[in-house]
Amino acid sequence: MTLKKFDSQTLKNVGVFTSGGDAPGMNAAIRAVVRMGIHHGLQITGIMQGYPGMVNSEFNPLSLSSMANIIQRGGTILKTGRMPEFHQPEVRARAVANLRAAGIGALVCIGGDGSFTGAHLLWQEHQYPVVGVPATIDNDIAGTDLTIGFDTAVNVALDAIDRIRDTAASHDRLFIVEVMGRDSGFIAVSVGVAGGAEEIFIPENPATADQAVERIRRGISRGKRSSILVAAEGHKPGRAYDLAEAIRKKSGFEAKVCILGHIQRGGSPTAIDRILASRLGAGAVEALRRGECDAMVGVQGDALVTVPFDNVIGVKKKVSSELVSLARTLSI
Ligand code: ADP
Repeated sequence: MTLKKFDSQTLKNVGVFTSGGDAPGMNAAIRAVVRMGIHHGLQITGIMQGYPGMVNSEFNPLSLSSMANIIQRGGTILKTGRMPEFHQPEVRARAVANLRAAGIGALVCIGGDGSFTGAHLLWQEHQYPVVGVPATIDNDIAGTDLTIGFDTAVNVALDAIDRIRDTAASHDRLFIVEVMGRDSGFIAVSVGVAGGAEEIFIPENPATADQAVERIRRGISRGKRSSILVAAEGHKPGRAYDLAEAIRKKSGFEAKVCILGHIQRGGSPTAIDRILASRLGAGAVEALRRGECDAMVGVQGDALVTVPFDNVIGVKKKVSSELVSLARTLSI
């Protein structure tokens, strides 16, 4: 797919919003959009709560100084929201009318696949230009090696696993740690490798309770007294309890369950996330200035790239099979 272009010569005012699930580093991305935009003489307008703020004209001009002291903060100062009504064309038309009435000529959308789908429709239906910045702790967005928030979420989960391992080792216990990841196992695999998990359960390639029992037994046979299994929540948060039950029925092993849940979303972003968010936020402004739109900025290797939404939305990014097999080999 080729990049869509719009006439950016007359662009004066760019709106920025955060949408969908929050991710640590969103504030660093907002800051980069504002400061890079103002550096180029643009006005930057903050849209509150994502699409709801667009439909209700909740627009606030953002200044250089309003970005002070936010780079280290988790969450999003613009708030984020979900709005099922945005699936209706007339609601999207109202949003575009509001934006045009306020003189906002283009948008930076900081969010995930759902938010990009809404943005894609704004271009298709109204030729309204949007550039997306990928921010989700799940890292499951195609076209970019990394999404904002993933590294922080992995580090939070890893810290929890390290603590649990202390208890597991002291009491000779089996633990199942459930991490976030509805449709993808990126967090589980990274945490599993970095935390030395004995087995990793991911939605893409589900391990079975039989496999887990076999690996636990193998560990015991060579003197191992404690084990940690990592499971992505999948579509059923709390599935770690089902796994624990299945393992108990098959083997008699009693597993303790720890569900990390929303703590993985919070907290100060890591340096990797702050740098990524700074590059992508600034890159989104540069892309708009070049007249590029209906696309996402991402990182591929060392390069900052602009990828058409058509190549991003609904495209599944695969967890590295090399990492999955490495985790297995190293945890023997
Ligand atoms: P994320 O951006 O993190 O994937 P969601 O999937 O919750 O988050 O999407 C955020 C918002 O984007 C939704 O609440 C809705 O307002 C809008 N959106 C999502 N999918 C669509 C769609 N198919 N059409 C129009 N708007 C959508």
